[in-house]
Amino acid sequence: MYNAKAYSVASSTSPFARTTIARRDPTGHDVQIEILFCGICHSDLHVARNEWSVAMPAVYPCVPGHEIVGRVTKVGSGVTRFKPGDLVGVGCMVDSDRTCPECQAGLEQFCPNTTLTYNSPDKHLGGVTYGGYSESVVVDEHFVLRVPPSLDPAGAAPLLCAGITTYSPMRHWGVTKGKKVGVVGLGGLGHMGVKFAHALGAHVVAFTRSPAKKEAALRLGADEAVVSRNPDEMKRHAGSFDFILDTVAADHDVGAYIQLLCRDGNITLVGAPAKPLAVPAFGLLLGRRSLSGSPIGGIRETQEMLDFCGAHHITADVEVIPIQKVDEAYERLLRSDVRYRFSIDMASLRL
Ligand SMILES: [Zn+2]
Ligand SMILES: [Zn+2]
Repeated sequence: MYNAKAYSVASSTSPFARTTIARRDPTGHDVQIEILFCGICHSDLHVARNEWSVAMPAVYPCVPGHEIVGRVTKVGSGVTRFKPGDLVGVGCMVDSDRTCPECQAGLEQFCPNTTLTYNSPDKHLGGVTYGGYSESVVVDEHFVLRVPPSLDPAGAAPLLCAGITTYSPMRHWGVTKGKKVGVVGLGGLGHMGVKFAHALGAHVVAFTRSPAKKEAALRLGADEAVVSRNPDEMKRHAGSFDFILDTVAADHDVGAYIQLLCRDGNITLVGAPAKPLAVPAFGLLLGRRSLSGSPIGGIRETQEMLDFCGAHHITADVEVIPIQKVDEAYERLLRSDVRYRFSIDMASLRL
């Protein structure tokens, strides 16, 4: 075991404070990583403040962070795919049972026995896992991703959660050249959705509540931007979308978007509104449309996504902050006051 500097919260109402956590010494298949950047995901805030107490009660002290990019500092004797100096990433999972049908299929995100990167029982040290708001982490090589060295590491960090969460359903539902794709919401997830749909060759329409965000959507790669509050603008697209990615985490009218799908079109939810959404049955059955959801992605597909980002020069648009500003960043996140993701420069931990 060794000690690593980190930032943690001591309770659901505490501000973040500097702390020291234990990390295991790398075993045979482990990779030790010096963390360079960690993105701030909305899940970090939910867990730190114990807002998901029913599904995932927070254990304190809590060190969030699952959008990790860093450099390999040490590898176990059995590690074959990484060496010190490699630029790598770690996302939402650090282990799974490796034996269930989902794991065998490379779909570890559906394994009933995944170990999440933070606030999950730690098989090695007991207690719970600690996330990326730290100077260092030790992860089994199967859950370590190669990050193309051409990518800016600060902007690459959010690819590990926001990136794969938007990329995976687009691949699953066949987003490609010739398809018309909508992206609802232009936050951390939505802005990645626009970039991916554009890079996959689709005709991309971004939906936003504020006309002020239209221009930003076009800059991100959207071919059109629609103000969702404007019924005339919405009506013009009725029955025309092959696929819509819905990234909105607040209550909203999903029926309005179902109406915009073509026959057999699909709308996939990647945001998680707290209250159930109202779904008009006629919207689905007329047109054989479907509504589904999707969580992150498997390790194999996450690597595919990172390689795709390397080939297409895709990173998240980030505002880099020192870790001392993480509380302020959470408040701004709640006001959607960030274009489009915070990325913590972990060098600030050494200040
Ligand atoms: Zn996340
Ligand atoms: Zn499994």
